[in-house]
Amino acid sequence: MTLLITLAILVGLGMIMLLAYQISASYQNQFLAARQHNLHAQKMVGLQLAQWQQQLQLGLNPLVSSLQAGTPIDVVAQQLAGQLRQLPFASNLALLDERGNVLAVADGQSPAEMGLDYGPGLASSKPELRWLPASPSALIAVQAVQNSAQQTLATLAVRIEASTVAQLLANTSYGPEQELYLLDARLRPLAHAPAEAQLPNLASGLIARIQRAEAQTLQIQLPNEPGISLLSANQLGKLPYVLLLRIDSRHFLQQWKSTVFFYLLGSTLMLLLSLLTAYFFWRSQRLGRHLRQKEHKLSASEARFRQMIETTPVGLVLARLPDFYITYINQHAARVFGLPQAAALSKRAFELYYDRIDFIHHSDSAMNGRALNNVECLLRHKEGTPFWASVSISVTEAHDGSTLLMGLSDITQRKRLEEELKKRATTDSLSGLANRAYFMESASQELLRCKRMQQPAALLMLDIDFFKKINDHYGHQVGDLAIQAMASICRSQLRELDLLGRIGGEEFIAFLPATDLDTARQLAEQLRCAIAAQVIALEDGREVRFTSSLGLTLMRANDLNLDAIMKRADDALYQSKHQGRNRTSEVL
Ligand code: GH3
Ligand code: MG
Ligand code: MG
Repeated sequence: MTLLITLAILVGLGMIMLLAYQISASYQNQFLAARQHNLHAQKMVGLQLAQWQQQLQLGLNPLVSSLQAGTPIDVVAQQLAGQLRQLPFASNLALLDERGNVLAVADGQSPAEMGLDYGPGLASSKPELRWLPASPSALIAVQAVQNSAQQTLATLAVRIEASTVAQLLANTSYGPEQELYLLDARLRPLAHAPAEAQLPNLASGLIARIQRAEAQTLQIQLPNEPGISLLSANQLGKLPYVLLLRIDSRHFLQQWKSTVFFYLLGSTLMLLLSLLTAYFFWRSQRLGRHLRQKEHKLSASEARFRQMIETTPVGLVLARLPDFYITYINQHAARVFGLPQAAALSKRAFELYYDRIDFIHHSDSAMNGRALNNVECLLRHKEGTPFWASVSISVTEAHDGSTLLMGLSDITQRKRLEEELKKRATTDSLSGLANRAYFMESASQELLRCKRMQQPAALLMLDIDFFKKINDHYGHQVGDLAIQAMASICRSQLRELDLLGRIGGEEFIAFLPATDLDTARQLAEQLRCAIAAQVIALEDGREVRFTSSLGLTLMRANDLNLDAIMKRADDALYQSKHQGRNRTSEVL
């Protein structure tokens, strides 16, 4: 920022310096141009006057020769008019005596009228032609004519009107902004252009200063006038005149002022432009900085988010729709499926399911706007083995397409625990058979099924004979062994479809579906014999044997529930006990 401000200030300063230089250079140019104008005007006027002088000399020469040849004055006077015609710029040609009195004039005016101009002062003229400041309104050129003895015979005088000189000045002038003045040796104005120009009141010392310095140009502030005048004055060669040029600053600086204006305008625009450029540069820098900061923050937050997703103990899988190709899988999910993360990217989401029908249901539901939360299903391990997982599925829409988002966690452990708990709740721990509650539940269902299918069914109730004695004689542990042996025999003797349970201390029950009376009798007898044949060999060498009593009944059409059937079986068992044990009784 500081650098930018410094740069802008430097540019500004540079521009101001450039501007100042340009203004001063332009001012100098204007000044020099004015000077050149004056020099040029001086040259032009000087040349014209010198030419006039030359023509005068040529015009006067015949008269001088006539006079020197002794031609009478009257005759010479008559020649004046002829000679004057050869001098178009001259208004009058006069012949004067040695005392300066006018003897004759060429244009027919009376000498009295001219007397003022051709005064006695001209008598002292020299033999060569020279200009005399004889009049404030005209130029007078005079030449004395002498004989060989150097006696003045007469004097010739030529008058050029101030208006003619003014015309000459006007032709030489460069424009209305310039004023040209022809001054005599005593600095009186002889002629000027333009006509309305007024010679400024100049101290003679000032003009003398200008004269001395030869074509020096001065800037002066004239009293009672606004602005500055540029003055330059110069002696016209050997002629006794001074040419003064005056240019008003209002004119000669006009162009300069417009130049300055355009420079100021241009530099202001440039300064504004550079400030604007600096401002926009600064803005873009700041914007760039902000963007970079945001980018850093975004990438840091993305890195955090990615790390979080990578390390979260929940499996995450993203799959693009509609082809279900996996676009992302986090570490946890890859571990759960036993896949390297990179390898998973070549798979499709449904390959992660054990049963594709499940996948179709889940993805259809998510794509129809019904996200699934913690649905239990079987997924497929890399080796093809299934495992239980809790799955959440939803679909996210983005500008580059839809994505299936799948969150999953392996619930194999939980499932195992649930199975275990369920088993504990339904199984008798000593015998491994169904407990009373579970037997009642499953046998009731089986009963209904048999009724629905119109199949016969039988119920067997078993009780170990004199079990108390086993306990008493061998101990409670051996009693337990007897219970386990009893369960084992029942399991081996009965069929796969039969339901078996332990419903009391040494009391067992079996529901035999799709079993008629004969089959039931046969099964009961097999069972009773197997129990009676069973020998439990103890570690101390003793052997334990026991028998059992059985009660058998068949399902009746009017049996509403299991209780009625169990009651009959119990009655049958009671009969077996009563009749001496180790037998099967029937209550049909
Ligand atoms: P009966 O021939 O009339 O059936 O005679 P019993 O001795 O078997 O008579 P009862 O049915 O009255 O006796 C059951 C005994 O079983 C009583 C109880 O102490 C014993 N008992 C019950 N549950 C268990 C058990 O889990 N383990 C052991 N060792 N004994 C048990
Ligand atoms: Mg009993
Ligand atoms: Mg008993």
